[in-house]
Amino acid sequence: MKLPAADSFVYDVIVVGGGPIGTMAARYAKLNGISHVLVIEENASIGSPVECTGLLSAAALRETDMEPNPSFVFNSVKGADVYPPNGHCLKIEGKEVKAYVVSRKMFDRQLAEKAAKEGAEFQLKTQAVDLKRETVCGNEIWALGVFAGGNLKTLYTKIIIAADGVRSRTARLAGLKPCEKVLSGIQIEAVYHSNDTDFVEMFVGSAAPGFFGWAVPVNENISRIGLAVDLDAAAKQNKKNGSDDTKSAYDYLSELLQSPILSQKTAGGNTDFVVGGIPIGPMKKTYAAGLMVVGDAAGQCKPISGGGIYTGAVAAKIAADVASEAILENDFSEKKMSLYEKRWKKELGRELDIGMAAHAYRMKLEDKEMNDIFETLNDPEILSLITEHGDMDHPSVLIRKLMLSKHSLKMMKLAGTFFKTVL
Ligand SMILES: Cc1cc2nc3c(=O)[nH]c(=O)nc-3n(C[C@H](O)[C@H](O)[C@H](O)COP(=O)(O)OP(=O)(O)OC[C@H]3O[C@@H](n4cnc5c(N)ncnc54)[C@H](O)[C@@H]3O)c2cc1C
Repeated sequence: MKLPAADSFVYDVIVVGGGPIGTMAARYAKLNGISHVLVIEENASIGSPVECTGLLSAAALRETDMEPNPSFVFNSVKGADVYPPNGHCLKIEGKEVKAYVVSRKMFDRQLAEKAAKEGAEFQLKTQAVDLKRETVCGNEIWALGVFAGGNLKTLYTKIIIAADGVRSRTARLAGLKPCEKVLSGIQIEAVYHSNDTDFVEMFVGSAAPGFFGWAVPVNENISRIGLAVDLDAAAKQNKKNGSDDTKSAYDYLSELLQSPILSQKTAGGNTDFVVGGIPIGPMKKTYAAGLMVVGDAAGQCKPISGGGIYTGAVAAKIAADVASEAILENDFSEKKMSLYEKRWKKELGRELDIGMAAHAYRMKLEDKEMNDIFETLNDPEILSLITEHGDMDHPSVLIRKLMLSKHSLKMMKLAGTFFKTVL
């Protein structure tokens, strides 16, 4: 990489990755008054390909400043029908709309449009491939090597916000260590006769080791059916069953589709196919001098549900705040950037830690124990606590309520070691 010429243009912020979290960071950087903000995106189109179920909590829409409307919302849901391995459905009802089923393509595009309206620049078909620290007139800046239009070019910037998703090359180039785990996700969109489009269906237990399967209704005739697995839990399960082969997420989805509950509602075939990783257990360090890592790139997905939009949006705003403070103070030091991590951990750290504890607990459960848990939860008083306090983004609120209720002994018996981490 060549040294920057004296008259090279230096951006204030370059966001690598034009996903929802990158464009949120860019928009807030502009709203905070930063002059030159550029988003680079390796694909030719924002919002495509989609690697998501598009089930966004009401809080995720609020956090991204998106009013639910038919331009991107297909359906809204109030609760879940959860199927443990024995197939005895537990209906969990919310009092109001808990989440929206969206077109991620349209959602991502509208977020990008909002960023562009605030003055963020976009360069599509531009892939970050190299990263170096350079000194210009005594100031350290980033020289970002990009592959664009068949050419290698260098872009210069004071700050990089790495929002390049689960396989973040930018974080790797900056020498940062990856997140703890990446779950293997897979999904189809297919003809599916939903009993009630107000409810998503969830399938827990050995059907999806370490995580769960889902059928999320887009409308009464179409659902997004998928699952994610923790491949460590899958390997353990296979070994226990006397097999050395590790089944893939694809194998588990094929089996789920043939299960009695799903097979009677599907017509076969699919109109969309998604595979993708869900990063959980955030990176130990999410910053370097002049650089912050946000969203999936930082492993900020919720370990209990796999959702990454709410948490990523919270982190993106914090990164934009720290970027604007750094520009004002002309301070791009590692110490300054560490404020980003301190602040996002204050907002999200506890829920993500509890989520990882829940994940570790879920990994150990046998099908019989899973059935027992759902039998215990099938109590009108417990279900009413779930209806009252269930929150996709803050599960600790419900856990605390359960532990402080008269059912605490039952809860401790079920999952004492996990619940202790919450109190
Ligand atoms: C199967 C599945 C289902 C999911 N369902 C949900 C759900 O229902 N609800 C929810 O909240 N979350 C869900 N998630 C998680 C959610 O999709 C992510 O958390 C979210 O997309 C993260 O946004 P992001 O902007 O951080 O990363 P991404 O959306 O991955 O965006 C990163 C962008 O960076 C670009 N990029 C990558 N490398 C480079 C590079 N070197 N140079 C330039 N650009 C680059 C990519 O092309 C991409 O556009 C799901 C994930 C999976 C896999």
